[in-house]
Amino acid sequence: MRSLIDELRTEHILKQEEFSVLIENYNDVDLSEYVFSMASGLRDDIFGEKIYVRGLIEFSNYCRNNCYYCGIRAGNLQADRYRLTQQEILECALEGYELGYRSFVLQSGEDPCFSDDDICWIVSSIRENLPDCAVTLSIGEKSRSAYQSYFDAGADRYLLRHETARSEHYRKLHPEELTLDNRIRCLYDLKEIGYQVGCGFMVGSPYQTADCLAEDLLFIHAFEPHMVGIGPFIPSAGTPFADRAAGSVELTLFMIALIRLMLPHANIPATTALGTLDPMGREKGIRAGANVLMPNLSPVSVRKKYSLYDNKICTGDESAQCRSCLERRVMAIGHTLAVDRGDAPGWSRKL
Ligand code: SAH
Repeated sequence: MRSLIDELRTEHILKQEEFSVLIENYNDVDLSEYVFSMASGLRDDIFGEKIYVRGLIEFSNYCRNNCYYCGIRAGNLQADRYRLTQQEILECALEGYELGYRSFVLQSGEDPCFSDDDICWIVSSIRENLPDCAVTLSIGEKSRSAYQSYFDAGADRYLLRHETARSEHYRKLHPEELTLDNRIRCLYDLKEIGYQVGCGFMVGSPYQTADCLAEDLLFIHAFEPHMVGIGPFIPSAGTPFADRAAGSVELTLFMIALIRLMLPHANIPATTALGTLDPMGREKGIRAGANVLMPNLSPVSVRKKYSLYDNKICTGDESAQCRSCLERRVMAIGHTLAVDRGDAPGWSRKL
């Protein structure tokens, strides 16, 4: 099995059946320790000791969609809805700047109340006020022309997890009107426009198999994203999957490590979901090859309400506390927080 890991490290790809075999053996501690050390070594070769931070601004939990796993789905009547004003979103970024952040992620449900012009205003006002910062959007499936207008307004990156690369599996996680084809169309549009693009998936979502995960890896290899976001599935009250088991932290770490070996230069976050299932989850994510953390910059008054899943961490802390807590945690495991934009190596804006 170790020889497969060595091959992945040098060739950056394996056959689907080989990925499946590795994934089925994620519980083998000797194997996982080997993968983690290879992956974090490769990450260190490329990024040194730096861990990049992105300030996350969750600006609305209204959503028109009904994904079966998600706590802010339209049909969840228990969700306490909120949306920040455009001015409040800008203020969050300004506050983040004071705390040292130079990269912001604006995330929301698919909230029809924000028009494309509103999103462009938010992006361009952050870029005008903070020209040395990067702006990432994560606001779901839009038309190509909408993606183009956000890019022209100054957005640099877009996160849109593909959720699963297998269409039968996609069908089991989403209602009829949402299709894998459209999700993939969005990802390719974003890439062609010139964004740094992030795809990704949950580990342990209902009906997922080792083969599904192997297909996710092949999709990611073919798509060559600049970022890959993965985290464990965590059940959420008020959703059809409320009583399902959570995904495995160990398997999530194993998948992070495989993705690092496959795409050495990718930006890979140690996600909040990982930190929610295990108090040391984010540190373990870094040990497995992740190189990004996404602390919360949303106002404390709304943080608990952006609950994609139950028991989310860091919902009571002020942004300044998050910053110093992360700094401490990262230093304790021998890394430093990087404050620059942290673009994907080799990326620049098309002129
Ligand atoms: N509306 C945006 C942002 C979605 S929320 C979009 O469509 O991209 C960001 C991510 O949270 C989702 O892509 C999903 O992978 C993850 N997520 C949603 N519900 C979750 C749950 N119950 N457990 C873990 N992750 C979840």
